[in-house]
Amino acid sequence: MTEPTPTVDMEKLVSLCQRRGFIFQSSDIYGGLNSCWDYGPLGVELKRNIKEAWWRMMVQGHDDVVGLDASILMHPHVWEASGHISSFSDPLVECKECHQRWRADQLEGDRCPSCSGELTEPRQFNMMFKTFMGPVEEDAAVVYLRPETAQGMFVNFQNVVNTTRKRLPFGIAQIGKAFRNEITTGNFIFRSREFEIMEIEFFVKPGTDKEWFDYWVGERFNWYVKLGIRRENLQLRPHEEDELAHYASKCSDIEYLFPMGWSELEGIAKRDDFDLRQHQEHSGKSLEYYDDDTKEHYLPYVVEPAAGVDRAVLAFLCDAYTEEPDKDEVRVLLRFHPDLAPIKVAVLPLSRKENLTVFAKDVYADLRPQWAVSYDDTQSIGRRYRRQDEVGTPYCVTVDFDSLEDKRVTIRERDTMNQIRVPVAELKNTLQTKLNGEDLFVLPPGGEVWKVERE
Ligand code: ATP
Repeated sequence: MTEPTPTVDMEKLVSLCQRRGFIFQSSDIYGGLNSCWDYGPLGVELKRNIKEAWWRMMVQGHDDVVGLDASILMHPHVWEASGHISSFSDPLVECKECHQRWRADQLEGDRCPSCSGELTEPRQFNMMFKTFMGPVEEDAAVVYLRPETAQGMFVNFQNVVNTTRKRLPFGIAQIGKAFRNEITTGNFIFRSREFEIMEIEFFVKPGTDKEWFDYWVGERFNWYVKLGIRRENLQLRPHEEDELAHYASKCSDIEYLFPMGWSELEGIAKRDDFDLRQHQEHSGKSLEYYDDDTKEHYLPYVVEPAAGVDRAVLAFLCDAYTEEPDKDEVRVLLRFHPDLAPIKVAVLPLSRKENLTVFAKDVYADLRPQWAVSYDDTQSIGRRYRRQDEVGTPYCVTVDFDSLEDKRVTIRERDTMNQIRVPVAELKNTLQTKLNGEDLFVLPPGGEVWKVERE
């Protein structure tokens, strides 16, 4: 079997993201802030759609999972109990010549990758960002920006049990920002110091944790496939004993074939009762669960699927990126799953003549309450189709002079460039069924196949 190769190179993707308003360098006009990124008008829609698809399938789609939105700043004792103050560190080495800093465990060889200078001995560098609560900058006021969202769910475990009456097994899900003072960042949005996580802490009866671990590995892997990532660009990588995080007894990464090679997209970890036990000890509050069936008190075990939102954005962008020969040129398109596409439909009047504009604007106004729709009347229709292809819009609706007479418009599909013509009265329903996955050529009442030849 031949190894798959990455589908796009990073430079092309970064350039498209900047040019079309997906992702900008943070504080660009000041020269940028290293490894910080801003999501532009299209990027924010893509990111929102990814988070919504996660919430819909993981929270709404599982009647045993409930949501939470915990505060980023937490009591400093949380991080002592969780082990982050003592163990959330990476080995740092510094070049004695150029003073660049590197993560020792990511280096090949024992010299500086930048100038081949000699490196210092590794020392542990804690990755939590520190700040101060209140007006006085003193040790007693130190708080941390959370490096993961998980602890918010552990410390709320009893609150959720008491308020929802959920019985084991059940999960708490959360999407939110996390901050890590990474030693080295890079590969665009793959590794930054401020990022978002979508994660579930799934609490189970000890002894059933292995089955639940396998269940969540399957659920999470299939989520990416359902949303369009090609199976061959995903792989599971179980962790070796010596690379497990301090809280985990078992872990598998879902890796994606990013432009720089196979890298972690999501980790599914078996945390057992590590966190609840630690918080119980440090807070002095019982976090035990009372099992009505067995009449026992015990600390549940935990399975945690933790996915990076920004890494998911990058993976969906990479996997969607396609170049196709197009006469003498190249057609660039983003083959996003319709649920993820930032814009679902573009309305394109063939000309700017007033009567056509009025008609097209009515169509646009009618679609907007339902979807993210764009309106474009500049340049040739061919150029406009290409612009929509490049940002992944699944359907264009073209309004032409015949539309004024026959009250029909043309729907053009991004991936095949096929077209059908449908009555305006059927447009919304037709788009809805196509966006839900129906074949373009299943025609609505009064519709017809308009063109099948390539543009
Ligand atoms: P890595 O080994 O790449 O540093 P990790 O194993 O420390 O990641 P986790 O603690 O499991 O990561 O965090 C859960 C998820 O959060 C990761 O699978 C990844 O998608 C995302 N993530 C972690 N660190 C970063 C970062 N610096 N920038 C962007 N996303 C991140």
